[in-house]
Amino acid sequence: MTGALLSSDVLPEPLFRQTLGLLTELAAISSPSNDPAGLRRMAERLATELAARGLTPEITEEDGEGGVKLPVLLGRGAGLSRGPLLLIGHIDTVLPAAPPHLEKDRLVATGAIDMKGGIAAFLGALDLLRHWGVEPPPDLLLAVVPDEEVGGLLSRAVVRHWSAGARALWVLEPGEPAEGGGETMVAGRRGMFQWRLDVRGRAAHSGLHYWHGRSALTAAAGWCVEAEAHSDRNGGPTVNVGRFVGGDTTFVEGLAAQHALLGTEQQLNVVPDRACAEGEARFLRAAEGEHIAGILQTLARNIATDTDTEISLAIGPTIPPVDPDGPQATWCDRAVALAAARGWRLDVERERGGISFPNFLAEPATLPVLDGLGPVGGGMHTRDEHVDLASFQRRIVLLADLLVSAR
Ligand SMILES: [Zn+2]
Repeated sequence: MTGALLSSDVLPEPLFRQTLGLLTELAAISSPSNDPAGLRRMAERLATELAARGLTPEITEEDGEGGVKLPVLLGRGAGLSRGPLLLIGHIDTVLPAAPPHLEKDRLVATGAIDMKGGIAAFLGALDLLRHWGVEPPPDLLLAVVPDEEVGGLLSRAVVRHWSAGARALWVLEPGEPAEGGGETMVAGRRGMFQWRLDVRGRAAHSGLHYWHGRSALTAAAGWCVEAEAHSDRNGGPTVNVGRFVGGDTTFVEGLAAQHALLGTEQQLNVVPDRACAEGEARFLRAAEGEHIAGILQTLARNIATDTDTEISLAIGPTIPPVDPDGPQATWCDRAVALAAARGWRLDVERERGGISFPNFLAEPATLPVLDGLGPVGGGMHTRDEHVDLASFQRRIVLLADLLVSAR
């Protein structure tokens, strides 16, 4: 996707060139998730850039997955008396860095959009505010984490900790190109829970005592089919059965040793007395999550009664969704209007797949969450990852305009 570059009246050419140079340098610092030294170099470089723009940087070494020490960078505004305007970014990339290069209207670079591009756009926005002679909101708090692309242990902890009392969360992950030449930001993300179904029936010889048997396998299969049938194509919840095992108890409980039975004639004459299935459900609104959990439990009770089997359904902890109609709705409208005033079209994605920063909030519904504020491009996580230069310009200006309206 390529659009016209913004006029130099909006974003002075030298300021844009300088921000592009900064992104090129950041992308050249190799900082894949498994490289603590590279991540530290990246955090230190960013700390210098934040300090130059009036934010007080602090790098702490925290215990990541497996106890590995990894850097977490904070950049604090001068006036954090009210709940902060929290911005979140990550410095880790999936691949180690390859030398960045310009290719027509794009910069091909590791992390160009995911998400050194978003961080660079934010730094560019601070420069643009200075150029306009406008102070950024004094309560800015930028948190930069080193492990978003892997387990996300620190990403979760940092979002949880610093969002307590925050007045908003802005996420510098990339938007997406939209049809017809626009770009997107993200207003909603699905939440989820995982579930595990365990069914016990009664084994019987299928030749001699077929009607005496109670098939756990058939009961579990019936539950799975009905559970998935509650998935709603029109944006409602979805249920996915991820794994299913059925057979006689020794087979199901000793699967690792018993799998050799598959493809043989053994035990096919037994009504299977054991089955388990496990999977997940996803949903865009907290109430829909509770509702679907209730439906799945009722289904388990009803099928247990109908099939004369014992069924237990365990439902795991819920990762909360971000409701696109939550407190960010008015902020999204504002962002769309700000983009339109600069001559480009910003669309709002009402739901983006995958679990990400906003889902790590304790209660996403309590504060406005603006996600996908970073520039668009393509080839994420590949050697072809690139940022669209027109989009990079737009996002610098959009972030600056948003910062002005958040003062
Ligand atoms: Zn990312």
